Amino acid sequence: MLATSCARCGKPSPLSLATPDRTRCPSCAHEAATSPELRASLSRAAAALATVEAHHRQLSRPQARALRHASWRIGCFVAAFTTLVFPLALCAITGVWSQLTSSQGDPLLASCLCVGPFVIFTAVGSLLLRAIVRRTRALELAAAAIPPARPGDPARCRVCGGDVAAVGVSPVARCGYCAADSLVTPAAMARAASRRAPELVDFSRAISADATALGDLAARWSRWLVPTFVGALVLPLLVLVGIPLAFVLGIAGFFDWYEGAVDPSVRYTLVDTPAGRCVGRIDPLDGGRVRIESHGAGAHPAWVRELPSDRGLETFDARWIVGKSVRPRGEQPGVVGSVHGSPMPRMHRVRIPGRFGQRDIESLCMAGP
Ligand SMILES: [Zn+2]
Ligand SMILES: [Zn+2]
Repeated sequence: MLATSCARCGKPSPLSLATPDRTRCPSCAHEAATSPELRASLSRAAAALATVEAHHRQLSRPQARALRHASWRIGCFVAAFTTLVFPLALCAITGVWSQLTSSQGDPLLASCLCVGPFVIFTAVGSLLLRAIVRRTRALELAAAAIPPARPGDPARCRVCGGDVAAVGVSPVARCGYCAADSLVTPAAMARAASRRAPELVDFSRAISADATALGDLAARWSRWLVPTFVGALVLPLLVLVGIPLAFVLGIAGFFDWYEGAVDPSVRYTLVDTPAGRCVGRIDPLDGGRVRIESHGAGAHPAWVRELPSDRGLETFDARWIVGKSVRPRGEQPGVVGSVHGSPMPRMHRVRIPGRFGQRDIESLCMAGP
């Protein structure tokens, strides 16, 4: 808003490019003719304004729509959000309740499955609502007219300060002097007036800034509204399914890729299982006792024996298996190409040429002599 200091009360008295030769103070109603210097400044500002094409100071169609339907849009958003958040909240409450009252509950799982979608959707919804309100307010602020000096007076153009009047029920008025669009709803004008500082010195700069203030405010972003809203619903599902899946696949991939050194202190032996002679790992227990475990038979739980000691057993370390003809559980026989330490302690895995990934050494049975 272009202004000069009132000669009587000293408060800012607004100026207009449309009527550059006089000013009327809204504070004390003092009317005065403008000085030749002020008129020269205003005519320079008018020249600066003439260099900006008129459409830059007019609302684009999406902007006008956004302003006209602002409260309707926000209302619809809140209604849709409430409708969708209700079942999610219900699911969260019943899920947590059933986990708390059940003796076999897993509180972490319950939180992820039941509360996660509710929290994510609520967070995204609130951020979206905040963004809608802020963008709408920013557009309102940029487009609002200067409020009338006295009740009953016309509002004034936000760019040139000339009188503007809304036509019919439209909240937007076009200036007859500079063709700028201004929003003339009283609430928006009052909000903008409290945020704008009067420009007393550099009129040309202020005019150019006001003439281009609309830019593409609130026009482009609104096309992302619906996809983001839908995304907020789908995202929790993707997170719930995707993260555990990626985790499992990632761990499996890492175990198949990893090739650690063989630990020769880990001993193995061949054991007779329902599936034939299979590799069993020997784990020492207290008092010299040993536990032998093999997964080659495919039985659940694994084939396990405990013995008083490993005396009399023919034992070997993991390297023994290289070159042997073996039958991994549930597969055709093959010859072991290499053996490696795994990321887990006391665990070894083998590669069989021509097959994908590695196999646990305890899951092998002997295919040949
Ligand atoms: Zn005054
Ligand atoms: Zn104007």
